[in-house]
Amino acid sequence: MPQYKALVTRTLLPEALDIIREAADVTVWPEEAPPSAEELRRLAADADGILTTIMDRVDATLLDAAPNLRVISQLAVGLDNVDVGEATRRGIPVGYTPGVLAKSTADLAFALLLGAARRTSESERWVRGGGWEIQFHPMHWLGQDVHEACLGIVGLGQIGREIARRARGFDMDIIYHSRTRYPDAEAEYGVRYVEFEELLAQADFVILSVPLTPQTHHLISAPQLAMMKPSGILINVSRGPVVDPAALYEALRDGQIARATLDVTAPEPIDPNDPLLTLDNLVITPHIGSAALPTRLNTMKLAARNLVAGLQGERMEACANTDAMG
Ligand code: NAP
Repeated sequence: MPQYKALVTRTLLPEALDIIREAADVTVWPEEAPPSAEELRRLAADADGILTTIMDRVDATLLDAAPNLRVISQLAVGLDNVDVGEATRRGIPVGYTPGVLAKSTADLAFALLLGAARRTSESERWVRGGGWEIQFHPMHWLGQDVHEACLGIVGLGQIGREIARRARGFDMDIIYHSRTRYPDAEAEYGVRYVEFEELLAQADFVILSVPLTPQTHHLISAPQLAMMKPSGILINVSRGPVVDPAALYEALRDGQIARATLDVTAPEPIDPNDPLLTLDNLVITPHIGSAALPTRLNTMKLAARNLVAGLQGERMEACANTDAMG
């Protein structure tokens, strides 16, 4: 008989749940929408381990309500919804899922870059709206070239590097700014380090791939948007609050930058009445960076293995607070 109780806050693919069931009695939150904070506290009351998603707030209040908790396993790379410091103080290891989703997220970032450059969503809406009345007009739908354009990557971590790898295939001039400078990666990925302001001023495309932290909150606001080229395109695949939405609205409305594509918004989901949704030069996808089936399965399996390792007091494959691991 499994000796542990595990709470899984969202339905997972069966292959991942099976991994947890080998070691624990599993309660799976069955609804589409996440449990409320109160519901989560109630469900976690007797849990030894909990597998969370980015929508579950894991803070001191939840941890107080879950006295048996010996592991938190987050189904994501970003941990901005988890108070990792508080978990560490309580000796609870926090698992996460680096390594398995960077390529898919970089694929999506590149899809968004190409789509924004060549205006695919915007022109497709126009076709569906009955706008295509002249077969071909040499002045219609002029976008930007991707090949040989300058790409600025903000945050040269796992996703940023995979984006760079893709950009090289398009002969892009790749510059980056990141908290740490990585000379080895500069050679390997063909990227050049520049200061943040220089990146904003030089890049034709600015991609954000930083974590959400107090330092990156509203990293892109009015002054930074003003530094970008009028033809510049902003792509955010990190977390919504890294961009100030009011400033972005004004910059796009006033043509201060050409276009933007957001895979993440603040808040999520975006309010259907948000003024950003009135703009033709903005495309929003619903946080689908890593939503490719094989990648999602691998991510779920990694989160499941992290959970089981934590339950059994073993080392996790990916732990955000190794000092809390036994
Ligand atoms: P990562 O490997 O940790 O890379 C993040 C990079 O950002 C690191 O190089 C880090 O610097 C840098 N950084 C941190 N703070 C910075 C700052 N203030 N200024 C400049 N650079 C800074 O993470 P990742 O796997 O690439 O993922 C990045 C983020 O993308 C995640 O945290 C998550 O929020 C988001 N994400 C979104 C999706 C989606 O579906 N859209 C999917 C996956 C992840 P150091 O090297 O010094 O640490």
